[in-house]
Amino acid sequence: MRKALFILCILGIISCKKEVKENDEIVLPSIENIKDTLIVLPEVKELRENNSETIKDTSFVNIQTLSTDFVLDLKYATTDNFLHQKVYDCPECFLRISTAKALVKANQELIKKGFRIKLYDCYRPLDVQKKMWKILPGTNYVANPKKGSKHNRGAAVDLTLVDLFGNELDMGTKFDFFGPEAHHTYTKHSKEVLQNRKLLKETLAKYNFKSIYNEWWHYEFRPERYSTVSNFKWKCE
Ligand SMILES: [Zn+2]
Repeated sequence: MRKALFILCILGIISCKKEVKENDEIVLPSIENIKDTLIVLPEVKELRENNSETIKDTSFVNIQTLSTDFVLDLKYATTDNFLHQKVYDCPECFLRISTAKALVKANQELIKKGFRIKLYDCYRPLDVQKKMWKILPGTNYVANPKKGSKHNRGAAVDLTLVDLFGNELDMGTKFDFFGPEAHHTYTKHSKEVLQNRKLLKETLAKYNFKSIYNEWWHYEFRPERYSTVSNFKWKCE
């Protein structure tokens, strides 16, 4: 009965805030039984805080259930990446709910200015991290799966900007270019490149995304940076 009640709550049919607080024996449905669209409710965050072990893998959302305004170009679902191997079965962008919501807001602001976000990589299951580590171990290019990357936490996104026709803005290097030209501190790029990077960095900073010094495309949502490493896998058709 409690389980049924909880599922009804998730479906938004009834409000369950009270029941959730009073009920400390909630059994959460497994990820296989949860549809992506069902996990975008504010109650989920509350549940996650109280039941972090049970809900950690269900607190992800497919960003396209929140917004269809992103351009998706998930490079690791293709061979067009520095590993030259396809490591995702299909191209989907999952993130922690709060990360995804903040990114939607940033994108809305950019759209008003005539741009939009193109996503190269989002949440990455730990098994994929291990696979990448196996292909390219012991370098700075792939985070050691023992520690896990911010992508394994659903807290990091790799992205760029496109104009309203879908053309990528010039950021000075391609995605996953590993060299000083990709660093934020590299100032020898054209004025246009520096302005494009500035626009991306300043807009994302407003929504609590932190950059890292050596990859202009990589941003981490501060509140989720130390979330649990996850191995939740999305389904492919
Ligand atoms: Zn990244």
